[in-house]
Amino acid sequence: MNSEKTLNYLQLLPSVDEILQQKELINIITPNNRKTIVSIIRNTIQDYRQDILGEASKPSSMDKVIKVIIDNVIKKVNKQFSPGLRRVINASGVIIHTNLGRSLLSESALQAVNMAASNYSNLELNLDSGKRGSRYTPLEKIITEVTGAEAALVVNNNASAVLLALGTIANNKEVIVSRGQLIEIGGSFRIPDVMVQSGAELVEVGTTNKTYPNDYKNAITENTGLLLNVHTSNYRIVGFTRETTVSELVKLGKKEGVPVMSDLGSGSFVDLSQFGLPYEPTVAEIVKAGADLITFSGDKLLGGPQAGVIVGKKDIIEKMKKNPLNRAIRIDKFTVAALEATLNEYRDINSAVNKIPTLKMISNSPEELYTKAVDMLEKFNQENLTAAKFQLVKTVSKVGGGAMPTAELPSWGVEIIPQNSNPNEITSYLREEEPAVIARINDNSIILDMRTVKEDQTGDLFDVIRKSLS
Ligand SMILES: *Cc1c(COP(=O)(O)O)cnc(C)c1O
Repeated sequence: MNSEKTLNYLQLLPSVDEILQQKELINIITPNNRKTIVSIIRNTIQDYRQDILGEASKPSSMDKVIKVIIDNVIKKVNKQFSPGLRRVINASGVIIHTNLGRSLLSESALQAVNMAASNYSNLELNLDSGKRGSRYTPLEKIITEVTGAEAALVVNNNASAVLLALGTIANNKEVIVSRGQLIEIGGSFRIPDVMVQSGAELVEVGTTNKTYPNDYKNAITENTGLLLNVHTSNYRIVGFTRETTVSELVKLGKKEGVPVMSDLGSGSFVDLSQFGLPYEPTVAEIVKAGADLITFSGDKLLGGPQAGVIVGKKDIIEKMKKNPLNRAIRIDKFTVAALEATLNEYRDINSAVNKIPTLKMISNSPEELYTKAVDMLEKFNQENLTAAKFQLVKTVSKVGGGAMPTAELPSWGVEIIPQNSNPNEITSYLREEEPAVIARINDNSIILDMRTVKEDQTGDLFDVIRKSLS
């Protein structure tokens, strides 16, 4: 039973019409949004009623109640009508952050997308002959040039590339995979499940930590369609291990007449060991090793748009092009534009490292990042922000995107130590701001890793932090 007092509080609740008359709302209501706003008002009043009934709220006057309701309604209206996809400053230090959209595009890629978006283009027209052309032609040209492969095809993402490859060459056939490579990438991409989808039959060989060439050899039957090597992108097996290399598989495949495929996952075009990362063979090196088919993502280490790149032997790629599934997972013109421009950068590796944001972030030296962090710290120190203390901090960035999970890139950041609130509260404010800021929480402080903050974002980052702490 509610007390008499609670019932009195309920009488302070305004009607929907009373709220609609408030001057703060009159200005934002139009014939188009009226219905939505009325329903937001109704829900907000209903929430307030629940608060009173649950004794969570004991308002002193109707004016106060109206003010709270108006504030909440405006907040909800703003949220409802603002875009769902918002700008984020990534201060997490994770470079290829899948939740934040993986790779940023280079200037040339942006221009190419802009051109393709605002103009008609020769997407599927051969300007020499005036006849129908293929959207893959410009991509195939540059991909074969920079990888040394015979042929290439690009689809929506690497998951669909693997599906298309298996479905084309191994449908109703056996595919041999090491037990150490039966990976899950996340977002329900699991090698055994993809295998079922494609119509191929998975044959597991070896053990979790050791698989020898002979394990593959002994599993080959007349129904074997493929030897598959999968990059264990997002985890590492360390210690007492033995993986069969692509070269070893190629040697075996040649002898037995079975094609070899390598799902590289990230697929880098640059030897990243020069930046302190572990050595991994580049796409060109795997091509040279003789794999018949190689697949990798466009938006991981390549640093381009979301795409699945397939390179390999011409006869197999031609078959894949003709598979009806290929039409269902074909790329759009923005991907063609952005990927061609990104790949063009790789004609000059040194300049690619500077122009492709993902590579630039990976190659940034600790000295450069130190300077960036000092600049940011000085900005904070010039303000009189009592809500937090600031200091320089040595930190560690990650490649992300399931690539090189154990690799650590030494970096510098600014540590924010809140004085009278907890870090979780502040990071939740940071996520609400425009642009939103994603930072790292470290025990009782927040760390802004400067590696993933672009030069032109430092001003916005500073403004958002200052606002959230005021
Ligand atoms: C990331 C990854 C995939 C999936 O690629 P998407 O482009 O995200 O679809 C598949 N295989 C491996 C080994 C990967 O690392």
